[in-house]
Amino acid sequence: MSMKLYNTMTRNVDEFTAIDPPLVRLYTCGPTVYNYAHIGNLRTYVFEDVLKRVLTMDGYKVKHVMNVTDVGHLVSDNDDGEDKMALGAEREGKTVWELAEFYWEAFKKDMQRLNLIEPDVWCKATDHIQEQIDQVRILEEKGYTYIIADGVYFDTSKLDDYGKLGRLDIAGLQAGHRVKMTEGKKNYTDFALWKFSPADQQRLMEWESPWGMGFPGWHIECSAMAVKYLGDRLDIHCGGVDHVNVHHTNEIAQAECALGHEWCNWWVHGEFLTMAKNEDSDGGKMSKSSGEFLTIDLLVKKGYDPLVYRYFLLNAHYRQQLAFSWDGLDSAANAMSNLKRAVLEIRSSYTGGEQPLDEHMQKFRDAVNDDLAMPRGLAAMWGLLKADAAPAEIYATLLEMDKILGLGIADMQEDILDVDPAEIEKLIEERKTARAEKNFARADEIRDIFAEMGIEVMDTAEGTTWRPLRGRQ
Ligand code: AMP
Ligand code: ZN
Repeated sequence: MSMKLYNTMTRNVDEFTAIDPPLVRLYTCGPTVYNYAHIGNLRTYVFEDVLKRVLTMDGYKVKHVMNVTDVGHLVSDNDDGEDKMALGAEREGKTVWELAEFYWEAFKKDMQRLNLIEPDVWCKATDHIQEQIDQVRILEEKGYTYIIADGVYFDTSKLDDYGKLGRLDIAGLQAGHRVKMTEGKKNYTDFALWKFSPADQQRLMEWESPWGMGFPGWHIECSAMAVKYLGDRLDIHCGGVDHVNVHHTNEIAQAECALGHEWCNWWVHGEFLTMAKNEDSDGGKMSKSSGEFLTIDLLVKKGYDPLVYRYFLLNAHYRQQLAFSWDGLDSAANAMSNLKRAVLEIRSSYTGGEQPLDEHMQKFRDAVNDDLAMPRGLAAMWGLLKADAAPAEIYATLLEMDKILGLGIADMQEDILDVDPAEIEKLIEERKTARAEKNFARADEIRDIFAEMGIEVMDTAEGTTWRPLRGRQ
């Protein structure tokens, strides 16, 4: 089966070919572990998961590497400001190492809840300091670097094709930038490969290097670790669209200058999740550093199955911006409930021996292989549910489609409420008292207990009512 995939480098939907079939070497930029991933970040990981599943369905063996950024990602993408990890550690009274461990675990839990297949290799930036130093040394030996008071920098003017991924107007950027440049930087687009620790202060994370005590720049970890685990040519590199102009542009400069040849064939970027402008939100961006963002935990607390969010995402094409709203999520919850009802109706006749229905599978495969057209894939799924065929065959086909959709079809269950209603009433009373006494900590605790129990409590003019969580399986 051949797949068409948009390539940011060519600005075209091209026929995908692997360098060394059936192997596909896939690198995806992973989380910066200073806070929870927000549902915008997770949109990017869901699209990458779908890509990986489609490649696997097409017969490829995907080797997937994902990094974990636990040092060097500064508040500004222009190598200025504090390290996000140090700020996070200060905010939470943890060491940077504890912080990284905590949020990496939280990220893995989010992955599980969204049915994201884990990468074959996880690699943490701080476990690969030597590899990063080695790559900087190669760049230095080849004459691409210069040293200033603040660190070792990459001289982007040494490359004819710097900025080719984003088709950057380098002269325009150089002339028109408004941000003050770090003292000594030669060109606006130059970036740090190794930053020096301040002379008068010990950093929370710092290492010896041939250039002095310091820490790696943010971009070097990805090019160094990708080369270590996937060799000197990549098939596909993914991330969110915000990475095109800076992070991925700089990864390309580092890797191609160090290796001496082109590095990666396919650059694939997911568009952003934004907030819809409505009574709940002013609209616009979600920001992890400002702390104003939605998480999977929050969706669960509000009563949504995380897979409802996965469905919500699949309903939009990965290259189009998607505005999040609670109404939108409710529609996805309804769709999931309908799907579950259909699944529970047809599953009982399934023996395990039935074959998927060719015609429906073909429609589905055509859609997902056409630059991951998941809305069309979902339409094919709903079409299947109306098919004039034996229920067991429909179910067999659904299971096959779910290898890409990842909606947990095989695990869908009747809503089972394993709680005692008297206990719920008691807690509702206790919450009322806590609120009256302004004991909001206890009221919040009780809200969390309800979420754990899998029920949603609603305060209405007629009093407080409750029901099983929406879209819960
Ligand atoms: P970070 O943890 O900040 O390094 O980001 C992790 C991933 O999420 C990167 O691939 C980003 O490009 C992506 N990303 C950040 N914000 C959004 C958003 N609002 N929507 C979709 N992807 C995003
Ligand atoms: Zn990266």
